[in-house]
Amino acid sequence: MAMDKIFQFIRSQYPDENPIGLHVPRFNGKEKEYLEECIDTTMVSSVGPFVNRMERDLARYTGAQFAIATVNGTAALHIALQLVGVKRGDLVITQSFSFVATANAIHYTGAIPYFVDIEEESLGMNIQSLLILETELEKRADGVYHVPTNKRMAAVVPMHSFGMPCEIELIANWCATWGIPLVEDAAESLGSFYKGRHTGTWGKIGVMSFNGNKTITAGGGGVILTDDEDLARHAKHLTTQAKIAHPYEFIHDEAGYNYRCPNLNAALLCAQLEYLDEILIDKRNLASEYARFFEEYTPHFRFVTEGNFKLSNYWLNSLIFDSAEFKESFLKRSMELGIMVRPAWRPMHMLDMYRDAPRGDLFQTEWVYKHLVNLPSSTRKK
Ligand SMILES: *Cc1c(COP(=O)(O)O)cnc(C)c1O
Repeated sequence: MAMDKIFQFIRSQYPDENPIGLHVPRFNGKEKEYLEECIDTTMVSSVGPFVNRMERDLARYTGAQFAIATVNGTAALHIALQLVGVKRGDLVITQSFSFVATANAIHYTGAIPYFVDIEEESLGMNIQSLLILETELEKRADGVYHVPTNKRMAAVVPMHSFGMPCEIELIANWCATWGIPLVEDAAESLGSFYKGRHTGTWGKIGVMSFNGNKTITAGGGGVILTDDEDLARHAKHLTTQAKIAHPYEFIHDEAGYNYRCPNLNAALLCAQLEYLDEILIDKRNLASEYARFFEEYTPHFRFVTEGNFKLSNYWLNSLIFDSAEFKESFLKRSMELGIMVRPAWRPMHMLDMYRDAPRGDLFQTEWVYKHLVNLPSSTRKK
């Protein structure tokens, strides 16, 4: 039956692996050499040449003017929100269909997420949801207010789900029209572009993650991207305990954070950045093999592909079944076989801590949650 044929196909992509992981890191470059260099030079902590190099390489790769390395993607998002002026009691528009870190970072600032829907095509923020919400917005002297809650709409945070670029140009234009800062959660989308422009560089600030399961990893790490020099300087200041430069005194001029990426982690990332292109090519090849395989099952299954103007990194390949029951049995069977398949995150508005957050209609979010699985997506061994 179809189910076992699918698992056979997945096995054929990873013949030497058992169990087969969802997205496991591969280290095929100078990782060990660079890590040894950190130890030999004792530069293992938050100051060191690899941190600077990571920032330079990421700025160059993404086209952002500035890149500030952080300890992880969640911390990057927390700082980004603070930098665009999100304050206690504000609302921040985001998609309910995301990893919990997106909503948590909003929560850290004291703001409240306002959840909007995704669109089925890209699984990213639905511009229609913003156009519906817009009827409840009002421009006032100190910002845009959501009239029903009488709260300020302080930022918009779309997310490029599983590496698939969302309709970021439409969203960026909407933000510009309203004058609401755009913060892109590009945690999953290193190597993903929209109209040739890298995801994470469309807004005032973008953030990325280099957690162990992402396309490339620092073990733990993240980055803040921006073209704004003042924001960049402030980002670095806030992530390094807001310490004023002084030959020996410890003086801090605001409540900062210990959010700087350690050199040890940056070393791991620098090694992988050297062969990011090869990784991305292998991921594209895997995605097109999946796409070809699933053609036969159309319209019962939809393998999610990048649409027009988009280049996806295919971080996690996604399959959408027409039947929620089939999805459940598919997940159960995958566990028996030792092939790691995962459902999407439970949407944020269905989690206890965000259940009471204001929101628009979330039909697509709930539908996709019930019907989608992520398939094994690691790069294949050479
Ligand atoms: C991974 C991820 C994050 C958080 O990154 P960490 O480095 O794990 O803190 C944030 N948002 C999304 C959408 C993610 O997938």
